[in-house]
Amino acid sequence: MATCEVCGNDYWMAFEVRTVNGATHTFDSFECAIQKMAPICEHCQTKIVGHGVEVSGRFFCCAHCARAVEGPQGAEVRDAVGARPA
Ligand SMILES: [Zn+2]
Ligand SMILES: [Zn+2]
Repeated sequence: MATCEVCGNDYWMAFEVRTVNGATHTFDSFECAIQKMAPICEHCQTKIVGHGVEVSGRFFCCAHCARAVEGPQGAEVRDAVGARPA
C-alpha cells in the first residue's frame, strides 16, 4: 500500500514515477500524476499530457503555441511534416 502524494488516497495499486533527476513520486492515478508532474504550456496554460514541444527550454502543448510565443526557433515548429492525403 502506498499513499498518493496529491490526494492522499492510500491505494493498493498506487505506482511510482521517477524523474530524470532521480526523485520518486507516488500516485494513485494518472490523473494525480498529471496534476503534479505535467508541464504547463507557456502560451495557453493547458497541462501537457502528450509529447508537447520544447523550444529553447520552454514547453508548449503544440506547434501553434510555440510559434505564438517563441522567436525564430518557435517559428520553425510544425505539428506535422506536411504530407497530407490527397
Ligand atoms: Zn491521487
Ligand atoms: Zn498551448
